[in-house]
Amino acid sequence: MKNDKSFIIVGQGLAGTILAHHFLEAEIPFEMWDSPATHFNSSQAAGGIFNPVTGRKLEQTWLADELFPYLFDFYPRLESLLGTRFFFPMPLFRPFANVEMKSWLLERKAQIHHDFLRWEEDGVWVEQAGWVDVATLLRISRDYFAAKGLLKEAPYTGSQAIFCEGFHGQQNPLWSRLPFLPAKGELMEICSDEPSEEYILNKNGFIVPLGSQHFKVGATYAWKEFTNETTPEALEELTKKLALMGVENFALIQQKTGIRPATQDRRPFVGFHSQEKAGIFNGFGSKGVSLCPYFAKQWTNEILGKTIVHPEASIRRFYHLFSV
Ligand SMILES: Cc1cc2nc3c(=O)[nH]c(=O)nc-3n(C[C@H](O)[C@H](O)[C@H](O)COP(=O)(O)OP(=O)(O)OC[C@H]3O[C@@H](n4cnc5c(N)ncnc54)[C@H](O)[C@@H]3O)c2cc1C
Repeated sequence: MKNDKSFIIVGQGLAGTILAHHFLEAEIPFEMWDSPATHFNSSQAAGGIFNPVTGRKLEQTWLADELFPYLFDFYPRLESLLGTRFFFPMPLFRPFANVEMKSWLLERKAQIHHDFLRWEEDGVWVEQAGWVDVATLLRISRDYFAAKGLLKEAPYTGSQAIFCEGFHGQQNPLWSRLPFLPAKGELMEICSDEPSEEYILNKNGFIVPLGSQHFKVGATYAWKEFTNETTPEALEELTKKLALMGVENFALIQQKTGIRPATQDRRPFVGFHSQEKAGIFNGFGSKGVSLCPYFAKQWTNEILGKTIVHPEASIRRFYHLFSV
């Protein structure tokens, strides 16, 4: 995992990038290997949304009270360091799907946490939401690491490293016993004068305003094939989602795809192997933007001997799989 003096981080997707920034801040030496030519990534296709409220019951996402204060601290600091804007806090609106859904939710209002919610006649506003321009964050970080001589653009084939390989991790013999559950996703970028540019719309899909009448529209989920090819079926599904969100007229700019590195228990894989000199920072599924900063901080602190990683995210919960 370490050569003479530093760690090797494999993968400059969102996970590896955010971990590397935490290592730099903590003065933990590393070099980074990345190979998009041979290993396509998920991060370039991400909608980039962070949203503390999830599901039809309007539940708070796991650890929202810890994750969200930290991401609101971390991304602006990183913007200052890199001199580029990629963090866009923005309200998110969830219209009620129909009258039945509205009364179903209103009946349960007393049991719902309201810290992040503001109720209106036709839906709820979610506070502390927004989106990260992940492609820009990765591009600028890549230049930053390269300028410091920390980046090697080549596939890594060794076994002593910290692996941030996204869904490719399940092909790595070190980690192939872990319960990955990858999910292919597609989204489209469009130009239209119909959606609002003021907020993210979330109704069985999402519309994220990028500025200048450009929007991201997502996303699909599929578990059958894991190529990097976009599909006509996903384009049709996304077009239907868009219509259900009230948008009929648009020009398609591009369609994107990626494989979300999701896991069966919906929790990340963070920490060191029990038998090998290797570590893993992976399994962030469809929530890399909100999960990666908090767990990069936790793991960095664990490496420095200050705290330990949350037990539901720590790879220790799977140590029994490595010893058989
Ligand atoms: C359509 C879609 C929409 C999404 N929307 C959102 C969203 O709105 N909000 C959100 O939080 N998340 C979203 N996600 C999920 C998000 O993309 C992931 O959580 C996150 O990007 C995963 O990052 P990663 O670094 O773990 O993996 P990846 O982005 O896949 O990066 C892995 C990197 O490792 C490199 N690599 C792998 N193996 C090797 C090797 N052996 N040698 C060298 N390099 C290697 C690859 O080249 C790649 O750069 C979405 C995903 C998709 C597909």
